[in-house]
Amino acid sequence: MKKQLHAVAIDGPSGAGKSTLARAAAARLHFLYVDTGAIYRSIGWYALQKGISLERPEEIEKLLPGLKIAVSYGEDGLQHMLVNGEDVTDRIRLPEVSAAASKVAAVGAVRSYLLEMQRQLAREHDVIMDGRDIGTVVLPDADCKIFLTASAEVRARRRCTELEQRGTPQTYETVLADMRRRDEQDCSRAVAPLKQAEDAVLLDTSELDFAHSVEALVGLIEENIAHET
Ligand code: C5P
Repeated sequence: MKKQLHAVAIDGPSGAGKSTLARAAAARLHFLYVDTGAIYRSIGWYALQKGISLERPEEIEKLLPGLKIAVSYGEDGLQHMLVNGEDVTDRIRLPEVSAAASKVAAVGAVRSYLLEMQRQLAREHDVIMDGRDIGTVVLPDADCKIFLTASAEVRARRRCTELEQRGTPQTYETVLADMRRRDEQDCSRAVAPLKQAEDAVLLDTSELDFAHSVEALVGLIEENIAHET
């Protein structure tokens, strides 16, 4: 008999620690971790390369036919992003790409273009997928849905530490302002706005360190999946 696959949807605002926590939980549970933000970032990166106006959705939409986005998993188990065959995994982490990703993600045609690709991954693997609309749009039937958040101040402080470690430091004020701008854009857009799915469990990590956050996340997933099977 074919093994039943499981899907975990994790949504939440930027900087809530979704990717590091989801990756750690996926490693513990032997699930494939899918970072959907990286997919939107790849399109944002491509739009910047092409020098088009990010304020014009029709210009962004025109890019799609010439674009081939692929997700591949290396021997390291890490998710790599390929844009027309070029590995852009590191380049999509720059702050200007974050802002561009948020702009292209507000375009309905971009979201429909990516929908099938995300669903296909869940049809082939046990997945923990993180993003903004995974529980609400991409995987509405996920076995377990978690809305992961933390206060804007805590998220900005964590992002500052991450940028510093990457050798691209920014001031706390700049990071907090960028984060609030992105939250506003992600929550207020007409298509697939960031919101907690009705059947998602809220996990607020403002007061939790990394190890406790992983424990809480894995605990929630195990509880929900055990419930399902
Ligand atoms: O998660 P990350 O910060 O890398 O995502 C970059 C941007 O991509 C977000 O600000 C959001 O606008 C967009 N995004 C989205 N839907 C997803 C994942 C990311 O709109 N499922």
